[in-house]
Amino acid sequence: MSYETFLNEMLVKLKHVVPEPEIYIKAEIAYEINRLKAERNAVILGHNYMEPALYHSIPDYVGDSLGLSRIAAQTDKDIIVFCGVRFMAETAKILNPEKTVLLPAQKAGCSLAASITAEDVRSLRARFPGVPVVTYVNTYADVKAESDVCCTSSNAAAVVESMNSEAVIFLPDEYLARNVAQQTGKHIIFPSRQKAEGETDLDYQLIGWHGRCEVHEQFTIRDIEDIRAQYPDVIILAHLECSPEVVAASDFSASTTAMIHYVEQSDAPLYLLLTECAMGDNIAAANPHKEMLRLCRVRCPHMNEITLEDTLAALQKTQYVIEVPEDIRVRAARAVERMIAIG
Ligand code: SF4
Repeated sequence: MSYETFLNEMLVKLKHVVPEPEIYIKAEIAYEINRLKAERNAVILGHNYMEPALYHSIPDYVGDSLGLSRIAAQTDKDIIVFCGVRFMAETAKILNPEKTVLLPAQKAGCSLAASITAEDVRSLRARFPGVPVVTYVNTYADVKAESDVCCTSSNAAAVVESMNSEAVIFLPDEYLARNVAQQTGKHIIFPSRQKAEGETDLDYQLIGWHGRCEVHEQFTIRDIEDIRAQYPDVIILAHLECSPEVVAASDFSASTTAMIHYVEQSDAPLYLLLTECAMGDNIAAANPHKEMLRLCRVRCPHMNEITLEDTLAALQKTQYVIEVPEDIRVRAARAVERMIAIG
């Protein structure tokens, strides 16, 4: 494709969400990334939370954690460039030990992944012997390695049900755990790190943890009331990392991919997306005839680390290479592959 055609496609696609001068600058970088991607036999995976100019120009595949994990498991390219955060790039490496996996920005972390350690999981196992551990994919490799199976927001309830166990340890997102408890009708407890005197562990079916996504925890019932007062016909979609109260007050709640499909398949003219703000821009660009309200105070600072400039540098300098120690990788792979098999 010529540069002129590529630029024109970006101008059309992004005209309502990115200022035109910015598109001219970013199109040049994106075009060079795509040239280098072919030269280096690389594939670029882009999470739904990437900024719109990147999201609509360089990824070969876009999606949520589960979808991108599946693609990462099947790619025949030599290099995987993960435009997402570190735990996602780690998952790609776990599934592709022979391939070079690059994360364009070293500091692209995650508040949720940082909320729990492998030692925390071992302590919970010791406290609740024999209870299977389901871990959200938004965790680092050493935590996945201590788990029986991983899950994402799109299959969390199905994975919990598939355990066929009276009780399940579900880590580390407090709100996702509470939402899954509601979906599955299970009673949930959140044990303290150290057991208090007189505290009992007997009354539980789901055992949670106090991790939270620093983006989704910010949405409130007040946000929903304010928007509904101004736009009575608005359809409100909330990610399952939002609080159960926000989820209950919304019209639809699910994973990012299910939210995208909902907007594509619905006839409603106006939506509010209670999720990471760039995703609202990306859906708006893909659905120009529908209006998207966003509460754009909420941009994930970690996803925001990934830029077109850094992605170009990643391909030019082969940086930053993701490594996972083999003993951890093998155990983490079992949990991730089990999740993929459940679907
Ligand atoms: S949006 Fe939340 S869960 Fe996703 S990377 Fe950012 S902090 Fe982590």
